Amino acid sequence: MTAPLRLRLDAAALVANWRTLDRLSGAAACGAAVKADGYGLGAAQVVQRLAAAGARDFFVSNWAEAVALAPLGVTVSVLHGVRDEDRGVALTGIARPVLNTDAQVARWREAGGGLCDVMVDTGMNRLGVSAAAVTGGLLDGLRIETLMSHLACADEDSAMNDRQRVALAGLAGRTSARRLSLANSAGVALGCGYAFDLVRPGLALYGGVPRPDMAAILRQVVTPQAQVLQRRRVSTGATVGYNATWTATHDTEVAILNIGYADGYARGFSDRGCARVADGTALPVIGRVSMDLIAIDVSAAPGVLEGDWIGLDFALPAASAACGLSQYELLTRLGPRYDREWVSGA
Ligand SMILES: *Cc1c(COP(=O)(O)O)cnc(C)c1O
Repeated sequence: MTAPLRLRLDAAALVANWRTLDRLSGAAACGAAVKADGYGLGAAQVVQRLAAAGARDFFVSNWAEAVALAPLGVTVSVLHGVRDEDRGVALTGIARPVLNTDAQVARWREAGGGLCDVMVDTGMNRLGVSAAAVTGGLLDGLRIETLMSHLACADEDSAMNDRQRVALAGLAGRTSARRLSLANSAGVALGCGYAFDLVRPGLALYGGVPRPDMAAILRQVVTPQAQVLQRRRVSTGATVGYNATWTATHDTEVAILNIGYADGYARGFSDRGCARVADGTALPVIGRVSMDLIAIDVSAAPGVLEGDWIGLDFALPAASAACGLSQYELLTRLGPRYDREWVSGA
């Protein structure tokens, strides 16, 4: 059975983005954040492609995500660490926990857990043990692979970036950690001083552009496509969609597509989104985005018929500006109703 909507996923672009981030990171290793099902693309498919390209370190949020990747045999770190409930699965060794709190450190010690990662807070005040606790000996005796921290403002030119970098650098040699890691996607663009031994991009792998200076070097990976369910003529003065927000100022050819906000095609694209046929002709979204449907003006595309596939503009910075959702939300809301089709683009 094929779905009436699909994600066209460009495998070559995904790998090219990883290589670009790897190159920008100098001697540091380049891993990949694949939490939230690979930001909506499908974690297993992303991991297979990036592992084949040379990525060795993958990051998920929780143990269910790690279990799903276990058959692939890659090295996975679980960013949210070990709750009491996770002890059993964590001790199977399918992934390393990233210990975030004093209690998690104690739990891992008592459980006799092996190699782990540790998150240290350097100012974001989200997850992580304090730097003072680390220098005070909290981690003594633990076998640590990566001591990491996370940047709060890497997508901005904020003085906080350098403060966080200095704080992590100050912990070099203070633990058993073999590696230090700080940068997410935006952090990679801050320069090699931020790369330490391992970078952890997510968004940029998938075509998100966290800083304008990265726009020219990253490629779009995801394009939603939907099938035409009906083509109709809307006469001058008639309206389209919920609340009749769009009125035809002239007789208009309209196509109804099999995609809506339940598929992550945000309601903010109402009257603002754009579809596109193969020759590049732009077909604006008209009226409200419904749960499962949108309407587009196909007056410029007389050849579009019921059953045809139409692509939706999804260059992430522009799409984010158009609909008001962040690039992260645009990706992670892409739902389960799509067929996910990997292609090797140009
Ligand atoms: C999600 C996440 C990343 C990746 O961030 P991007 O901004 O998507 O590159 C890296 N590190 C941690 C700790 C994260 O939670």
